[in-house]
Amino acid sequence: MARTSRTTLRNVKENSQRKYRSKFKTNAKLKLAILFAMSLIAAVSATVACGPDDSTTSEQKTVRGQLTDVQAESFLDLNSITVAADDGRSYTLQGRGRQHTGFLPSHLREHMVAGEPVTVTFHEEDGALVLDSIED
Ligand SMILES: [Zn+2]
Repeated sequence: MARTSRTTLRNVKENSQRKYRSKFKTNAKLKLAILFAMSLIAAVSATVACGPDDSTTSEQKTVRGQLTDVQAESFLDLNSITVAADDGRSYTLQGRGRQHTGFLPSHLREHMVAGEPVTVTFHEEDGALVLDSIED
């Protein structure tokens, strides 16, 4: 009688350990799935140009300097510009496909070639600097 109960007890213990182990495995898989989903979301939100999203944005900053690089997605859409600012820093600003009235990529290239300074306003978004506006 006592032997039976001891065996039963051991079985219960082993079963619970097995259960715990499989539960742990499931959690690890779940964590991986969540991580994967999160990185997927991050990748999608980084590539898709969506409307203004203020949840992850910081305050705006304005600098004046010379354009050292202009990357265009098309004739109209700016991909990114690099500004060697008066503060001695170089800022690469993402256009994110937004159009900037009066500042077509071709006009910005003219600025770059002529060495005419521009004033740019931008903000930080998801670790990248996003261009808000350009002025002569
Ligand atoms: Zn101009």
